[in-house]
Amino acid sequence: MAKAWYPVIDYEKCIECGACIEKCKHGVYDQSKAPTPVVENPDNCLYGCHGCGNICPSGAISYVGEEPTSGDSCSCSCSCDNDGGYKGC
Ligand code: SF4
Ligand code: SF4
Repeated sequence: MAKAWYPVIDYEKCIECGACIEKCKHGVYDQSKAPTPVVENPDNCLYGCHGCGNICPSGAISYVGEEPTSGDSCSCSCSCDNDGGYKGC
């Protein structure tokens, strides 16, 4: 079974800019709710991807499955700019 990985929004911090919804190309967020981020399809999220979290201006996105000491390698296939500088995913 694949390890769980999906974004969790801290609505206390979120300013509803909609950037995360625009960023994700995998249908994780409910487009009809934009610009309010609603995680509709967590199973579509790519393990290790930080695409939406990295562009969130208010640091409102964390990830289920992320270990506090995890590195910044990326195994996703979207066009995120993750911390590791890997642009090929
Ligand atoms: S982590 Fe990546 S795949 Fe998952 S919701 Fe964010 S941008 Fe989409
Ligand atoms: S990018 Fe961050 S602040 Fe903007 S809608 Fe998404 S969670 Fe909220």
